[in-house]
Amino acid sequence: MNKKTILVTGGAGYIGSHACVELLQTGFNVVVVDNFSNSKPESLRRVHAITGLSPTLYQADIRDKQALSDLFANETIDAVIHFAGLKAVGESCQQPLTYYNNNVYGTLVLLEAMEAANVKQLIFSSSATVYGEATCQQYAEDLSLGAINPYGRSKQMIEDILRDVSAADKINHASFMRTNDLLPHRQLRKWKIVLLRYFNPIGAHESGMIGEDPNGIPNNLLPYILQVASGKLAQLSVWGDDYPTRDGTGIRDYIHVVDLVKGHIKALAALDGEQFATGNCKAYNLGAGMGYSVLDIINTFEKVTGRAINYKIAPRRAGDLAEYFANPALALAELNWHTEKNLDDMLIDAWRWQSNNPEGYE
Ligand code: NAD
Ligand code: UDP
Repeated sequence: MNKKTILVTGGAGYIGSHACVELLQTGFNVVVVDNFSNSKPESLRRVHAITGLSPTLYQADIRDKQALSDLFANETIDAVIHFAGLKAVGESCQQPLTYYNNNVYGTLVLLEAMEAANVKQLIFSSSATVYGEATCQQYAEDLSLGAINPYGRSKQMIEDILRDVSAADKINHASFMRTNDLLPHRQLRKWKIVLLRYFNPIGAHESGMIGEDPNGIPNNLLPYILQVASGKLAQLSVWGDDYPTRDGTGIRDYIHVVDLVKGHIKALAALDGEQFATGNCKAYNLGAGMGYSVLDIINTFEKVTGRAINYKIAPRRAGDLAEYFANPALALAELNWHTEKNLDDMLIDAWRWQSNNPEGYE
């Protein structure tokens, strides 16, 4: 059987580079499109060093219609995994237009290029941020959505667009069938779309060769801890110890990035299965299904690495929720996916990446 070819947008980024490794090792051909706005070509050289294989690279912006049209003309793409996007919540509040342009408009250009090339299988990087301020702590996919910042709303808008695109298939199919009774049905390719709502991806490939390489001072907890542990930053601020949680600090569902990308491989397989046989657009949570507090993360990091973390308790960060974690039951039932790595693995692997690459990919 011919190898399938997967287009990975944002394939040089943190999650994208791990996805490239997993896809290549699983036997897919990989084509990457990335504009390197938040990554470096070195990450793809490391993908080659790990796997002995190279993705085909198109250095381009996904908003560049001509570049995408050329890419789809040159390559025979079976499915797209769409990671490309901007992801900093704080920055999205300061520059909402930049976020909507890059994330929402960029996705529209991609979808139009896919439709023109008749490539209609898509795995989209969504986020638990689409749930907004839910009243419960464990989020299932059928919760109503209500993102509370421009970044989250850009993800929610894209989800809406993708649901509409999939729904239109059914309408178009019905009218096509009325007017083209004699044409073979296989000419009608349907959109098959998986929305993956990530909880908090952390960790790195166990080789220590690829990992998260944030620009400037990190916003997220684990990259910050790594830089305190390596001496680049002096002290971690724990934002709030008066939340109604077991130790007063915020609780999140952390997931190893390698488990996360394996969820994408499972999602690709599901596109060939019963659930998607006649086209569909479905959301799945990718999380461990349990939460750890900020103090759990600090204490476990100190235990597994032997490094002390200098921290202080600081006021709450605006917009933070006390506690939430995934209900990953649907991904288990329909994608046959669950996490395999534990918190020790996540922190050991993240620290290996950080200590081997104190300046990231520089
Ligand atoms: P990242 O910034 O490391 O990777 C994104 C990649 O996309 C980068 O290589 C960047 O250069 C590229 N890119 C951005 N805009 C582009 C454009 N217009 N054209 C071409 N390339 C472009 O981010 P990541 O952590 O790997 O996240 C990947 C996806 O997962 C994003 O869509 C993000 O919103 C989503 N996500 C991430 C997290 C997380 O905590 N990391 C959580 C939930 C969802
Ligand atoms: N956090 C913290 N100090 C930091 C960064 C984060 O105490 O320097 C806390 C934050 O308040 C939250 C948790 O760590 O409870 C995870 O935050 P992160 O920004 O990594 O993820 P998100 O808020 O997007 O879930």
